[in-house]
Amino acid sequence: MAAHPPTGCSRIQPPVYEKHGSSSFSEFRASLYDYWNFIGSTLVDAKRMLPTVLKGEARIIYQSIPDQMRTDNSSMDRLMETFEQRLFSDTEIDLLKDELRSFKQSGRPVHSFAEDIRRAAEKAYPGNTDDIARTRDREAKEAFLSGLDDTIRVDVRKLAPPNFQVAIKNAQQMENIIRKEKKEEKIDSLIQGVNSLFTNPAQQEIIRVMKEGIDSPLSRKYGRKYSLQDGMLYLKERGRWTNPLKVILPEEDPQLEEIVRSFHTSPHLAAHAGVEKTLQLLADRAYWKGMREIVNNVCRSCPQCAKCKTNPHDNTVE
Ligand SMILES: [Zn+2]
Repeated sequence: MAAHPPTGCSRIQPPVYEKHGSSSFSEFRASLYDYWNFIGSTLVDAKRMLPTVLKGEARIIYQSIPDQMRTDNSSMDRLMETFEQRLFSDTEIDLLKDELRSFKQSGRPVHSFAEDIRRAAEKAYPGNTDDIARTRDREAKEAFLSGLDDTIRVDVRKLAPPNFQVAIKNAQQMENIIRKEKKEEKIDSLIQGVNSLFTNPAQQEIIRVMKEGIDSPLSRKYGRKYSLQDGMLYLKERGRWTNPLKVILPEEDPQLEEIVRSFHTSPHLAAHAGVEKTLQLLADRAYWKGMREIVNNVCRSCPQCAKCKTNPHDNTVE
């Protein structure tokens, strides 16, 4: 270290070190060396000053180093090495390694989990040599792979990522696929739910009885209300044949309102259309008495439609 006098620039402050603080030991050492170089500190002065920039446990550990090494003219690097070893004694390091291996994703996004692993790996495997960096990367990757959520762990492992960075990338790809699948599954099940409820067993039974064409009390009963033409079922209402019925839903199904709500809100079905449009779309697939009333209730009570005041839907009652 150069032995010229300090520059007197009071703005430059020495770095401070605290065990488990925000900066790693190697970062601290590097900026302390810079500082000493900058103020032109001698080796002895530097050694005298070192304990004053250590806080709490770090200072106590530093004082456990033999006096001679702390004050004599032997190399600063050797003192720092000894200090680092004592700071991260085997027990301490073992605990940090255990901690690294115990991390779990627990439903968090991959990037946040990976960041925790990266930080823990830097604490458990401190140092900048190629050897340490390789070990740190391997251990980080291993901890990352075993801590991933079950839904993606197996698939990411199969990809056998060569390093931690690639493992993160692979996991994020899997994460995106699953997110997309979940969304599609939700839409599928909604459409299926709506469709299955529109496939009413009662209608199938009416069609079956009327197709048989056998005279019976049941076929006569159905015959008063329905007509089967070219495989299509028609409903007789007020003396007129209505449009062919796609489906007949039970009139007082408590789920009806829920179905209509799904139908109204689904972006793939009515997509928050107004009463008339929702009714028309629904009537293409279903019929039941009191349909308009339910559609009207659902559309009028839809919070999303109510929010769109600048472009209100047609929510009038006929
Ligand atoms: Zn709506």
